[in-house]
Amino acid sequence: MTVTVTLPERSQTAAPVRPAAFAEKPSLVGLDRDELGEALRDKGVPEKQIKMRVAQIWNWLYVRGVSDFDHMVNVSKDMRAMLKTHFTIARPEIVEEQVSNDGTRKWLLRFPPRGAGRPVEVESVYIPEEGRGTLCISSQVGCTLTCSFCHTGTQKLVRNLTAEEILAQLLLARDRLGDFPDREIPVGTMMPSSDRKITNVVMMGMGEPLYNFEEVKKALLIATDGDGLSLSKRRVTLSTSGVVPEIYRTGEEIGVMLAISLHAVRDELRDMLVPINKKYPLKELIEACRNYPGLSNARRITFEYVMLKDVNDSLEDAKGLIQLLKGVPAKINLIPFNPWPGTNYQCSDWAQIEKFADFINQAGFASPIRTPRGRDILAACGQLKSESERMRKTERLAFEAMMIANHGEDDD
Ligand code: SF4
Repeated sequence: MTVTVTLPERSQTAAPVRPAAFAEKPSLVGLDRDELGEALRDKGVPEKQIKMRVAQIWNWLYVRGVSDFDHMVNVSKDMRAMLKTHFTIARPEIVEEQVSNDGTRKWLLRFPPRGAGRPVEVESVYIPEEGRGTLCISSQVGCTLTCSFCHTGTQKLVRNLTAEEILAQLLLARDRLGDFPDREIPVGTMMPSSDRKITNVVMMGMGEPLYNFEEVKKALLIATDGDGLSLSKRRVTLSTSGVVPEIYRTGEEIGVMLAISLHAVRDELRDMLVPINKKYPLKELIEACRNYPGLSNARRITFEYVMLKDVNDSLEDAKGLIQLLKGVPAKINLIPFNPWPGTNYQCSDWAQIEKFADFINQAGFASPIRTPRGRDILAACGQLKSESERMRKTERLAFEAMMIANHGEDDD
């Protein structure tokens, strides 16, 4: 059963009240330390205080997770008043929060207009698993790429998200899951990482992160900063469809784990499934993977492979996959296709997925079959899509009913 959580202070109607502060003032979230210092200097904070103030604010934002200047109790009242006048640290609006029968949560978030633009909406998904919890975040609203198996790919690119908006997805998920320390706990206390629900972050939501490199880099460097949100770089994965020129920079400048949306082992087929392949064909893509900084057996690249019935799931394809990845420290994630309304693809038969997995496993590659999660709330891989072309509620309910009929309550 799907649960849609009605949030008391927010509306799920078409035109909810937007938190004014978030929209109208520049945010301090998403600024690096130098930019934060510059913002304070610009408002008259004396030079000798800058370093200390930056450290204080950084701690409140990313260790304590506050979204209201009044909660920064060790900052003087005057300073808080000044900050409130000029800046915001408010969260975006939650338009809708859905909880799947398997515990997966999906948030539809609304961000205010940038300049002359319109408000935009993006989706983020939290997937709880045994011993870990993964947050999947978006980097763009819509996508310019049109991977034919992906629901997001049917939504035109509206715009890139800013570093603030990328980080806001993580901050908000931490709020909702109770991952920030209680306000009663003394200043300086960090939530022990073993108690946190979000242990891993994947940039696999809406959009191609490497088409928004600078903002993604800024957000991920803040998310992995040891004095703040403190995510380990080994627990942050950036997934690309294959923007070859930015792959090396990802390893060199951000240093997170890499995933490739592969899905086919022949250029002819990949041109169709992941059209960016026409620009950066398989040979160039795999070469870029071989040169990924820090690549080793302990830091393998994940190759995502969606299982499409009679399209890419033959044992010939499995053989091709083994050949293609020969010598690359790799893990291959097999993803049963998650249907969405209007798609012509079907998920491979389970027996075929297992045969395919065994075949590549015997060749020495880890090849887990990813358990579909959150299908009943359209939160599974490749299903995210936001407001501009969202399904009407009636369409969504019909689709959910169809999914439950096809897969049963115990699908996962
Ligand atoms: S798979 Fe990724 S890159 Fe391809 S259309 Fe979907 S969101 Fe865009």
